[in-house]
Amino acid sequence: MLKLQAQEKIKVVVEQVKKESPVVKRFKLVPEAGCKLPKFSGGSHITTFLTENKRPLERNYSLISPPDQSDAYEIAIRRNDQSSGVSVYWHTKIKEGEKLEISYPKNRFAIGHEAKHHVFFCCRNRNHPVSLDGYSTETKGPIV
Ligand SMILES: Cc1cc2nc3c(=O)[nH]c(=O)nc-3n(C[C@H](O)[C@H](O)[C@H](O)COP(=O)(O)OP(=O)(O)OC[C@H]3O[C@@H](n4cnc5c(N)ncnc54)[C@H](O)[C@@H]3O)c2cc1C
Repeated sequence: MLKLQAQEKIKVVVEQVKKESPVVKRFKLVPEAGCKLPKFSGGSHITTFLTENKRPLERNYSLISPPDQSDAYEIAIRRNDQSSGVSVYWHTKIKEGEKLEISYPKNRFAIGHEAKHHVFFCCRNRNHPVSLDGYSTETKGPIV
């Protein structure tokens, strides 16, 4: 098995595209042959790297798959028609079989492991899906 180096980007293939709603699509990304994807902590995101006519299209997307799953990552992208168009590019051009590069997972919303319990406040956020499974797996306790 190939070993991934932390500074490298990860080469992935879009294995599945699923329409979740009129404006949200879910993309399943699997590593190119021979690699396992790194595990991550709940709340992590990746940067996706695409190019359109040599224009780099770089955006961040939250990981919505279970943090200990290493054979695939899943992201959900909301189409935003009033924008520079990367989400629209994902929705209209990215099909199953497409190859791209992604960053290693990053986490700006990490769980504090010293906390005795966690309280979750949810509100409608049109971009970010919340993976409660990820948090409960990681905290190994009930979500209050
Ligand atoms: C940590 C992180 C995680 C994220 N996770 C997700 C996710 O899971 N799913 C998801 O769908 N998105 C997520 N996003 C947002 C995502 O990275 C993209 O911003 C989103 O897909 C829109 O990209 P876009 O190119 O279509 O729009 P953008 O061009 O990035 O525009 C986004 C918004 O900004 C406005 N805007 C752009 N330029 C200007 C300007 N000059 N002046 C005023 N307003 C402007 C646009 O009108 C639009 O409303 C995440 C972002 C971050 C930082």
